[in-house]
Amino acid sequence: MHSTDNMHSLETNLNNTRQRILTACASSGRDPKSVTLVAVSKTVDVETVQDAVKLGVTDFGENRVSELVHKREIVPEVRWHMIGRLQTNKVKDVVGRAWLIHSLDRWNLAEALQKRADILGLTVPVLLQVNIAREEQKAGVQPDEVLPFLKSIDQLSRIRIMGLMTMAPLNDDAEASRPVFRELAQIRKRLQRYKIPNVTLQYLSMGMSQDFEVAIQEGADLVRIGSSIFNNS
Ligand SMILES: *Cc1c(COP(=O)(O)O)cnc(C)c1O
Repeated sequence: MHSTDNMHSLETNLNNTRQRILTACASSGRDPKSVTLVAVSKTVDVETVQDAVKLGVTDFGENRVSELVHKREIVPEVRWHMIGRLQTNKVKDVVGRAWLIHSLDRWNLAEALQKRADILGLTVPVLLQVNIAREEQKAGVQPDEVLPFLKSIDQLSRIRIMGLMTMAPLNDDAEASRPVFRELAQIRKRLQRYKIPNVTLQYLSMGMSQDFEVAIQEGADLVRIGSSIFNNS
């Protein structure tokens, strides 16, 4: 349902979320301009996305390629982020459409992205997803696999690893996420000393509705927030 009421609650949620981002930046001495809100619009209708654009949202995240493709066609003026597990058979639709893929989690996906990008003559900006909490069911490379993965990526000339992404375990207590986020930030810091071809590590994507303030305090550049804005998960 689409109504001015919905627009009003969206505006309230968005203002609250932005205020919380500002407060987290202030509490950690960070420039608010260094933190980008990626509004996770999975399952949200296109009209609501358009309302969010009117309210100044510039970046949207989706976890399904079909939804990203559909919404991007109607709302092409913003940046679309692919944040969910990516099957290799969906790669053909996402390359050239996602501004950033947050969920590179395995080598054969990198190879599939390379192959598609080669056909289109594009480069593919991605984040390497790291399974910091070592949860069986979570995607991502293990922390000690990050460096070898990054070093191998120059074999795949069209992949650009712009940073790292992680998901903390589901938890009611945001503080439980802090060690996870801190470890990802430490991995980035350690690896930034290596000058690895096609790897920049400028972005850390971490923090969701449950824990984005903690993520910002630990150095997140991109926060992926859905339910605090759209009540969608
Ligand atoms: C859904 C989702 C989010 C947003 O989660 P919320 O709890 O709704 O803020 C962030 N990242 C990924 C990968 C997601 O799938």
